[in-house]
Amino acid sequence: MRHREPAICLSTIDYSETSQVLHFLTSQRGTVRVLGKGTKRPRSKSGGAIDLLSEGQLVFSTGRGQGLATLIEFTETVCHSALRKEAGRLNAALYMLEMIAAMVAEDDPHAELFNLLHNALERLAHPDAPVQAVLAYFQWRLLRHVGLLGQLDTCVGCGRPITGRRSRGGQDPVGAEGPVGKQVFFSSTQGGLICDGCEHTAGEKFALDPQTLVGLAALAAAETGRKSPLPNRRARSVNRMLAYHASHQIGRWLKMARYAIGPEAAGPR
Ligand SMILES: [Zn+2]
Repeated sequence: MRHREPAICLSTIDYSETSQVLHFLTSQRGTVRVLGKGTKRPRSKSGGAIDLLSEGQLVFSTGRGQGLATLIEFTETVCHSALRKEAGRLNAALYMLEMIAAMVAEDDPHAELFNLLHNALERLAHPDAPVQAVLAYFQWRLLRHVGLLGQLDTCVGCGRPITGRRSRGGQDPVGAEGPVGKQVFFSSTQGGLICDGCEHTAGEKFALDPQTLVGLAALAAAETGRKSPLPNRRARSVNRMLAYHASHQIGRWLKMARYAIGPEAAGPR
């Protein structure tokens, strides 16, 4: 069966002198692995080896079995050359590709994720893009879309509100601007924030920097369409937590996390 779809290249492996195995995120079929016979030849239809981040029209055929699909043609429409010129932006982009490749199944339709990645890469390509904020929003949306974002406004143990904003009356919140000295944690296994009172119930947990809660509140606000600033330091704190969560769910640390976010996002030494 023949398919034609907009697609973004997530990873490439050299298969032979002239061929590549390519992993794409497509607009309608989730991710797909295709064998590109002869793609590395300079006079191939793709005009030479297909590179990471390349976006375009992908034509491929699938057989009846589960094996690799076959690339028929790839016509690049966007090469994201601006992203390749600066390490900070390139590392963030490569981390996004790695996260999608690890979290999105093959043959599982995810049109929203294709748009998410396309838009995030476009934003990152802008010379004054706030790299950490773009990455934080991308991680948040991706985790939300695959159903893993978790409970980020109340404690998963006792249900007490945990907020990065000062509360106006109501229950006593814990958080960056709540009672001083209360440490808040995030547990990937338990799927959300944990207050200092419930912390002992979580075997696996990640201690949050106070900036993280404020950043999470900003992302929740942005998701509902409200403008909310996410300065670099705060965005990086959120990125560390979300990368920890994603890596925990995947079962291994994502290789690009330390370059895109910082050495603390590389897991225990
Ligand atoms: Zn609690």
